[in-house]
Order: sequence, then C-alpha cells, then structure tokens
Amino acid sequence: GKQGQGKKKEDDQDTKGITVTKAEDLSEWYQQVILKAEMLEFTDVPGCYIYLPRSYMIWEEIRDFFDAKIKAMGVENSYFPLFITEANLQREKDHVEGFAAEVAWVTEGGRNKLEKKLAVRPTSETAMYSYYSKKIRSHRDLPLKLNQWNNVVRWEFKHAVPFLRSREFLWQEGHTAHMTEAEAGKEVLEILDHYAAIYEELLAVPVVKGKKTVNEQFPGAHYTTTIEGFIPAVGRGIQAATSHCLGQHFAKMFDITVEDPNQQVKDGEKRDKLHVWQNSWGFTTRSIGVMILVHGDDKGLVVPPRVSNVQAVLIPVGINNKTTPEDKEHINNEVDKLRKTLKGAGVRTELDDRDGYSAGYKFNEWEMKGVPLRLECGPKDLAKESVLAVRRDTGEKFTIAIADLATEVPKRLETIQKEMLQRASDIYASHRKIVREWKDFVPTLNEKNVLLVPHCAGGECEDEIKKDSAATVEGQEVDARAPSMGAKSLCIPAEQPEEIKEGTKCINPKCSQNAKEWVMFGRSY
Ligand code: AMP
Repeated sequence: GKQGQGKKKEDDQDTKGITVTKAEDLSEWYQQVILKAEMLEFTDVPGCYIYLPRSYMIWEEIRDFFDAKIKAMGVENSYFPLFITEANLQREKDHVEGFAAEVAWVTEGGRNKLEKKLAVRPTSETAMYSYYSKKIRSHRDLPLKLNQWNNVVRWEFKHAVPFLRSREFLWQEGHTAHMTEAEAGKEVLEILDHYAAIYEELLAVPVVKGKKTVNEQFPGAHYTTTIEGFIPAVGRGIQAATSHCLGQHFAKMFDITVEDPNQQVKDGEKRDKLHVWQNSWGFTTRSIGVMILVHGDDKGLVVPPRVSNVQAVLIPVGINNKTTPEDKEHINNEVDKLRKTLKGAGVRTELDDRDGYSAGYKFNEWEMKGVPLRLECGPKDLAKESVLAVRRDTGEKFTIAIADLATEVPKRLETIQKEMLQRASDIYASHRKIVREWKDFVPTLNEKNVLLVPHCAGGECEDEIKKDSAATVEGQEVDARAPSMGAKSLCIPAEQPEEIKEGTKCINPKCSQNAKEWVMFGRSY
C-alpha cells in the first residue's frame, strides 16, 4: 500500500487542509491527518513510525494516568531485556505457537553469526518468568507485581497501520503473580477498569468490556479479558486493550512455586508445592490511533481537552493593513494578558501572534491540529471586554467575558470532554445490533454494525462464521486497503443484552449446538 512509502505531497503539507473527506476515503484521510497535524512520520522501515511530540505527549498523559493507578495497587516499575533466548521463548507451548509467525530474530552480532539466535521480545512473559521463579520462594514473596514501560516488536504481516498496527510499538506490560486464582482474577478486572478509564475519561472513546472467546484469547492464557472499541466510519471493531489471567500455565513451565502455607506437616516434612497464579496486561500506542479515528472530522484532528497539549489557542483578530503598529501592539499585549490569565487557571494555552499569516489561515491550522477551543480577540472584542470562543468538536460559537475567562474556559473544556464521550458512546450503542437469525447477520454487518448474536462459544463454529460472512461481501469492502474479511468474535460482553432463553440455537445455521451466551461479532482492524 501507499502508506508504506510515506506518500505525501510536499506543497500540500502546510498550505492546505485535508483534501479528502473521512467518508470518501478513510485511509487517505487518516494518513493526511496524522502527517499534517504532525502526529507521526513514516520511516524507511515498513511498519515502524516516528511518534512526534504532538502524539508522544498524549502517550505521556496516558502513562502518567495509568502509572498512578497501578502504583496505588502496589505495582512497581522495572525493566527486562529486549532479547529472549529461543529456549526461554519456547517454554510455554501455546505461547510460542501463537507468536511464532511474528517474532523477529537477531542472528548476527557484528560480523559473527550468533551461536544461538535471540528473539526480539514480542511480549515479555518468557523474558521475565525465569526471574520470577528465582525471586518467588515463599508465599511471603507474593503477590509479586511488576510492570514495565517499553517497546515490543511483532513482525506483523497484515498491512501495517500507523498507531493501530505497527511492527514496533510502545506499551506497558504488567506481570503479576498471586497465591490464589481469586486474587489474580480480581486484579485482571481492576486493570481492565483502568484501561477502560484511559479510553473513556482521557480519550473520550467508548469501549465494551468483555472476555475473549477461546479462539481469540492470548496465546498461553487461562482467559483474556478485553475492552473493544469501534470505528464508526467503517463499522469495525478494534481490540482496545487486554488483561489476561495466565492461570498456572507459565508457572508450571517456569517452575514458579511456593510451599502451601496452609498445609499442616510434621517436623522435617516438606510442604506441597503450589504453582502461583499469574496475570499479564498491556496497553499500547494503538489507543492514540483509535482516538484519531473516532473523533477526527473532515477538517482534521479533534483532540479531547484532557489529552490535548494545547487546550485553548488565542488568536488576535481584526488586524489588517490599516491597523497602526501601535494598535497592533496594543492588541497583542492585551491578548498576551489573556494567555497569562488562562495559564494561571491551569489551561494549556497557546497564543498565535505570528506575523504574515491571516487569522483565517490560523483558524484552519489549529482546527486541523484539533485544539479543543479557539479564542478570538480583536479591537471589537476588547471594547466589549469579551472574547469569541469556538468549539472544535461542534463549531459552536459563544462569547466569554474576559473577567470570567479563568473560570469559564476550564468549565467549557470539561463540557467538551464529556460531550465528546457522550456522542461517541451514542454512536457506538446505535451500531451494536442484536441479531437473532443468520439471514440478518451479513446484511446488518454490512450496514457498518457490530453484532450481538446468540452463540455456542465453539471455536470451530466461530471459524465457520468468519468464513461464511466473508464470502458474501466480496468486493464490498469499505476500506480498500484492508483484506476482504469476515466477522470474528470481538468479545463476550460482560454486560449481556438479555438472558439466553433455554433451547435457543446458535446463530450459525450449520451449527447444531445451543447458544451459551451473546457474543459480539464484527469486522475488525
Ligand atoms: P496482547 O499482548 O497480544 O494481548 O496485546 C496487547 C494489546 O496490544 C492488544 O489488546 C492491542 O490493543 C495491542 N496491539 C496488538 N498488536 C498491536 C500492534 N501491532 N500495534 C499496536 N498495538 C497492538
């Protein structure tokens, strides 16, 4: 695809806005937005991108938010190596099978071939758990809760998409060990709640919480919980983040055990060994791409106030050829006072007093960059002791008295934040359709929906649905770059739409089983 070469028209870069609408060509729109808004740059390594300050700052906001949450849970940060020996990577069978196709290997060091090739971590279970085995000796060493903020490499063969699916990405990965399944299970859900809060409270992106079906769970996991997002423009689901209970699978392979503290034994007798219960959970830079796709519009980015590096931009207006230098200086000085007022109120504010650019040009530029609130101020506004405010998300205009600026702007930013989430939630909800019969499955899917269907929870049945829903839609792909694909199971929503009535059949007409639960199916990124 063209995105691999980082195609961009140089002369478009600064002078023009986004040249396609989101509806007519989502891929092209997305690429233009991330490049022109200076979120990301392509490199000559396919699938590897430069996260520029404007996107990296969002990542930092996410990091600060989540880091505080996990520290409050007693998790500590640490760092484990980038490379994993082949022997370690292979210790858990399902795990290595699940990742085999995506592992990058280092086979040479300098001019020498390595005796034993090294894997670049696709995730760090196998990089960390030898240490866990050594560190955990007694039940008093539990729980062990470590996290790392790092990069991982997955040599994806599906087409790469900036942020959403890259070969190298940034994430945090938490790895914890517990005495009991119940304790591990509680943490899995607590983390999932924090992940949902990052999306909903920071990025204003709604998610559905649930569990993965066996087909879709993490390789080597006991079970996987997930939050699933939705990209309305194409009607596709996207896995937003996952929190896994690994059970005792890795503990058995890496020999992570403690003596049973509750067992009564005679003097000199050894207590039984118990395998610990482990979790792992990860949240990646994909989230930034989801935010862009959910909120952006034909003018460019729309960034929710809480994660926007600039929350309000002040633009002096009403300056033209006839304005005297003294008047111009006066306006700029007055507007700079407003900047200080806003800064004092904790609003991340930028004053755009660049010479040689029209106010209209500046409006477009800041709109493209997604700044939540524009404040225009010129001679007429100063005379009225107010500014004209324009919301990026809705275009709504209103005046704010200069005397109220410090209280009104933060209030308005909170309103924008809340309403962005509300609107996106309403859209997601209206595209989650209950489908009871197979005849409605593909037609409803094709209307850019995800589906809640009664399902048997069988893996082979799921594969069959994927196949049968793909064949019917050949040539109707909305996103031309994506392969024609069928619907896969996104999750078993924690909140089920209704009870499955006794005797309800699985939605797949080729399946003879009864339905066990409502499963969310959809095309996905
Ligand atoms: P996993 O360790 O496979 O459970 O992945 C953790 C999370 O990483 C997933 O829930 C996705 O949201 C995200 N993710 C998976 N693959 C990629 C990728 N290639 N680029 C960015 N994020 C990814």
